[in-house]
Amino acid sequence: TVGLGALAVAVGLAGCAGADSEAASEGEEVARVGVAMPTQQLERWAKDGANVTAQLEALGHHVMVDYADDDPQLQADQIRQMVEAGADALVVGAVDASALTAVLAEAGAADVPVVAYDRLILDSPDVDYYATFDNERVGIQQATSLLQGIGVLDETGRETGAEGPFFIEIFAGSPDDNNATVFYAGAMSVLQPYLDSGVVEVVSGETEFDVVATPAWDGETAAARMSALIQTYDADQQLHGVLSPNDGIAQALIGVFATAGLDAGDRALPVVPGQDADLASAKSVAAGEQYTTIFKDTRQLAEVAVSAVHQMLNGGDPETNDVTTYDNGRLIVPAYLLTPQLVTQDNYHHLLIESGYYEAGDLA
Ligand code: BGC
Repeated sequence: TVGLGALAVAVGLAGCAGADSEAASEGEEVARVGVAMPTQQLERWAKDGANVTAQLEALGHHVMVDYADDDPQLQADQIRQMVEAGADALVVGAVDASALTAVLAEAGAADVPVVAYDRLILDSPDVDYYATFDNERVGIQQATSLLQGIGVLDETGRETGAEGPFFIEIFAGSPDDNNATVFYAGAMSVLQPYLDSGVVEVVSGETEFDVVATPAWDGETAAARMSALIQTYDADQQLHGVLSPNDGIAQALIGVFATAGLDAGDRALPVVPGQDADLASAKSVAAGEQYTTIFKDTRQLAEVAVSAVHQMLNGGDPETNDVTTYDNGRLIVPAYLLTPQLVTQDNYHHLLIESGYYEAGDLA
């Protein structure tokens, strides 16, 4: 991961509220950093906002943080206000990847560096850096886990030889979130050969991204789609698993399955992967309900983003490990990709508790 220790000097506007912060060493000036997060509804983003703020403040910076309630227009307004209030840098977890072109042009004109946080910002030349997890890998991990759960692959990822057919449905994330497309593409790269061979079958036949996407990542929307699909099933239709793109949707689907009484083969519930290691899902994985989740340590992501901001404010080049993948339509945004980790009933203690992300009591 990217350490903050090497970053010594913070520069920026003198006289802002953080200037007399205890953390700022003698002779250092501090910057105003605008932090725009998409929503507070989903646990992870509240944590992201808090982590980024705390780490910036620890370096002596003054932070303006806003959450946009998943509303693209509100987020553009919030960012505009940050720029007008004299932000020296911006960290943005976009609601709608393509809705920030105009406001970021204002930031660009004011030479304000912009860090795209977790989600790539599209159609804008005014994006300087992208801090994220390896999103394609997330999709690959989700689909691999689904295939393991239903019995097509073994623990090591080798084919078991089971011929199926195994019955699934596919859900994707929000169409305005670039990550959703990348997760889906990663997952489909794993699933497609088994769909082609007939070992795995999508009961509804719905596989296209536009059809299986879930606007605003809304769990209720996903649950409504799943319920409607079940209505069309024959009475003896089995459902072995569902590709779920994140934990909010996974828990909503499990809510549907809990009352639907579907035949899930050897399991009480269909196999449902997820993403984020939200508390409810971490508990559910520990209890053997949700099959898996993906741990993306928001503390590390905050560290990467904060480190990049700090470097850019000091005229330095932030550390990157991917300068070829993330084309936003205007430039290839230099990126730092962290590694997501698959959480199972067997390893959740190690990954989530021993790492200090949760206390043992949280998951009891
Ligand atoms: C994030 C996921 C999150 C989803 C919904 C994605 O961009 O990468 O971690 O579950 O948005 O907020």
